[in-house]
Amino acid sequence: LPADLAAIVGPEHVVTDPDLRRSSETDWTGQFRGSALAVVRPATTHEVSAVLQCCQRTGTRVVPQGGNTGLVGGSVPDDSGTAIVLSTARLREISAVERLSGQVTAGAGVTLQTLQDHVRASGFDVAVDFAARGSATIGGMVATNAGGVHVLRYGTTRRQIVGIEAVLADGSVLSHLSGVEKDNTGYDLAGLLCGSEGTLGVITRVRLRLVPTPVERVAALLAWPSIESMIDGLARIRASTTLDAAEYMVRRGLELVMSTFDRSDPFRRPHAAYLLIETSAGADPSGAEGMDDVAVAQSEEQRAALWALRELHTEALAAVGPPRKYDVSVPLDRLAAFLEEVVTMIEQHDGLTCHHFGHLGDGNVHLNVLGDRDETPEILRLVADCGGSISAEHGIGRLKRPWLHLSRTPAELAAFRAIKRALDPGGIMNPGVVFEP
Ligand SMILES: Cc1cc2nc3c(=O)[nH]c(=O)nc-3n(C[C@H](O)[C@H](O)[C@H](O)COP(=O)(O)OP(=O)(O)OC[C@H]3O[C@@H](n4cnc5c(N)ncnc54)[C@H](O)[C@@H]3O)c2cc1C
Repeated sequence: LPADLAAIVGPEHVVTDPDLRRSSETDWTGQFRGSALAVVRPATTHEVSAVLQCCQRTGTRVVPQGGNTGLVGGSVPDDSGTAIVLSTARLREISAVERLSGQVTAGAGVTLQTLQDHVRASGFDVAVDFAARGSATIGGMVATNAGGVHVLRYGTTRRQIVGIEAVLADGSVLSHLSGVEKDNTGYDLAGLLCGSEGTLGVITRVRLRLVPTPVERVAALLAWPSIESMIDGLARIRASTTLDAAEYMVRRGLELVMSTFDRSDPFRRPHAAYLLIETSAGADPSGAEGMDDVAVAQSEEQRAALWALRELHTEALAAVGPPRKYDVSVPLDRLAAFLEEVVTMIEQHDGLTCHHFGHLGDGNVHLNVLGDRDETPEILRLVADCGGSISAEHGIGRLKRPWLHLSRTPAELAAFRAIKRALDPGGIMNPGVVFEP
């Protein structure tokens, strides 16, 4: 097989050396490690198609991989050494920004940051943004339906897609990139591939709707005496202001970030909860009732410093961890009670510590548990009992596969399996992710 693949992509792009493969075989968290037959790096859609045809013919399993920043173990192979990692690193073409439609077409391997730099030069911005922007790719964002800090304003990645090109397991190319905003010609295949986590095909190009670059932004960190008061405060702010972001953290996480990365406290005394809000609208939301204190960024540098306190949480936890991660969402009116119950439930066990932070505006909490005991079933059941979702933004991957039934009905799961069988009858695309292998 490696020789056949080398004939398609060139021998230097079929990596079989174990030392060179290693970074592609371990996920960002370090918790999922596997072994690949080879890492294959096609440069064009045509080459992706030829690689998949070859894999289909030989029954070889394929793990699509973008920036490998996924947090549910979906981007790395198992330890059998029989699957290939199909890296999109060379699918890096970007079209000029189309000013009339406000759209751009990007190769799956383009990183979010590269795309941001590209479109900002034309006065536009990418609606989705998050801390892994330097490595996460457009293909990975679509495959996981990435959320990030601006879902409140613009929605998830799914809402930004106007066209997609993807290669199915048999090598056939689905290409629908014309970019017309109104298009009701049958099934929405882009919507189907979005969030499919590499189980239905390889996304090769995406056409995205852009948003205007804000002329001015106001970022403020609001300090609160409790999580309840912060949630009430957010409701009042939202009623009067269009927010671009509403991110929260609590004292324990802020202290961890400050000590790990040598950052200073923007406030003179500690507070229970912190809400980082940003708006590019005219109104100033930093005078909300019920809060203890506020720090408004007076410059771009101060704005970046406030954002770093929130965005460095994932890395700070990785430095003391690895933590077990639960990316969940809960209806906002039940969030305060959920957080109290889940933290008590986890920390009643000696040696377990629960950190939480997240995208408050979306009811999306990132629970991170440090310590050995695994409380996954109890935590995810509590999420489901509160009417929440066991995966708010990272997907199912391998990590949450056993728990998918908590958020989806048997009829929905049967439909999932029927779609998988129809598009990938040989089961070669990312087996073990979302479904049992
Ligand atoms: C510090 C940090 C912060 C993060 N913050 C957020 C956040 O705020 N919001 C959020 O949603 N996520 C966040 N993530 C998770 C992660 O960055 C996203 O899931 C991202 O979309 C993954 O992109 P990637 O290119 O790294 O994909 P990978 O990790 O390489 O792959 C992720 C999944 O997509 C599949 N895949 C990748 N590329 C393709 C393709 N071209 N075709 C088909 N399938 C493909 C893989 O098989 C895998 O199942 C964060 C991660 C880190 C490390």
